[in-house]
Amino acid sequence: MHVIIIGAGVVGLTSAWYLARQGVQVTLIDRQPQVARETSFANGGQLSYDFVTPLADPAVLPKLPGWLLSADSPLRFRPRLDPDQWRWCYAFLKACNRRQVAQTTWEMLQLSMHSRQLLDELLAQHDLPFKLKRTGKLVMHRTISSLAAAARGVEYQRSLGSDQRLLNAAECLALEPALAAVASSIAGGIYTPTEATGDCRLFCESLFAMLQGLPNVQVLLGQPILKLVRRGAGIAAVRLPDGDVEADAFVIAAGLDSLRLTAPLGLSLPLYGLRGYSLTCALPAGFKHPELSVTDAERKVVYAPLGDELRIAAMVDMGQPGAVVDPKRIAQLKRQALEVFPALELAAANPWAGLRPATPGSKPIIDRAGPLSNLWLNVGHGALGFTLACASAELTASLVTGQPAQIDTAPFRLA
Ligand SMILES: Cc1cc2nc3c(=O)[nH]c(=O)nc-3n(C[C@H](O)[C@H](O)[C@H](O)COP(=O)(O)OP(=O)(O)OC[C@H]3O[C@@H](n4cnc5c(N)ncnc54)[C@H](O)[C@@H]3O)c2cc1C
Repeated sequence: MHVIIIGAGVVGLTSAWYLARQGVQVTLIDRQPQVARETSFANGGQLSYDFVTPLADPAVLPKLPGWLLSADSPLRFRPRLDPDQWRWCYAFLKACNRRQVAQTTWEMLQLSMHSRQLLDELLAQHDLPFKLKRTGKLVMHRTISSLAAAARGVEYQRSLGSDQRLLNAAECLALEPALAAVASSIAGGIYTPTEATGDCRLFCESLFAMLQGLPNVQVLLGQPILKLVRRGAGIAAVRLPDGDVEADAFVIAAGLDSLRLTAPLGLSLPLYGLRGYSLTCALPAGFKHPELSVTDAERKVVYAPLGDELRIAAMVDMGQPGAVVDPKRIAQLKRQALEVFPALELAAANPWAGLRPATPGSKPIIDRAGPLSNLWLNVGHGALGFTLACASAELTASLVTGQPAQIDTAPFRLA
């Protein structure tokens, strides 16, 4: 069996790995000259297995007006004359109910726990240098009300098997002394010892190096796929600028562009690009940097120590097209980071923007593409693509090859 995978971000690369391991002949194609040059390039670096609650949460609704009116808000919404935007927003608002949040959290935990187990197995067998650090995650809350709401989530997740601990302000500071500058603003926090951080781009590049060593994997970079060529009830080939490449099956892992590639086939994927930003800076000598992954809950900023660098990531901008770095948002991110870690040197920090390929209910789509018999989707990982990549890829490989899946794939169907 020959399978073409479209997209060499973290989702496409892991899909190639799990398919190749099953003895499938794999051709991985990407328009960029190198792997992981789009959304998988400089994300927040969180392997956030226990923080999979969907964005569409009723608790978000009362906060929306304040966020939309504040210049420094973590969320910015620009309405557009775009039916896709309104359809997505409507589906998002419909998903904001307690029953669906509880159900989605449970389903996403199955996927994320499986992903953690698969990554552990991968790392037990192969040396993949990507600055992995398993020191856990501290989510700090600045208000008692925010902490109390988070504590209710902890209770629910504990009942599902998560190891999360509620800490008071002193315990937060004892665990992460680098937060001293904001000591008086901390109401408390949630510590999850099983969380990890790593550099997604390095992970992709390391996996790519391993894939290149496999005899059944071919990689075509710098090759934009112009269209999927249909034959009968399935796909015959992908069209590249120099001609068509045929295969028996096709996996779309093209991030947000999966939307554009599948539209001519009559599919309307519920994907929207939520733009976010990151800064990567060298750790100054003598700087007391965080040892843990730290999240500033109210501001929705994450801090991940990645070796000798710190990655700072945040914000959701909706309706701003393209992965364009907005200098105002970067200036805001710098101000917020300096308040928490005043000794950081951010003048030379690398700014980056990426588009999270998000579904309204925050679940990825891992499924056959509607009626097309040999076209498969592994898309829509939103804010959690790095975290969920291994499990999504392994499930995709099972579906494509007809093997039994390790966990239930029904929650991730294209509804
Ligand atoms: C600011 C920010 C912070 C984030 N933080 C985290 C985090 O801490 N933890 C986490 O788990 N996730 C995080 N994410 C989400 C994560 O980065 C994404 O979910 C993930 O990178 C998506 O991977 P992907 O492979 O689906 O898409 P991409 O990485 O975008 O890959 C898609 C690939 O398809 C290729 N492609 C597209 N169209 C074509 C075509 N026509 N022909 C050929 N190739 C094509 C592209 O070139 C690209 O390489 C964050 C995202 C952002 C923006």
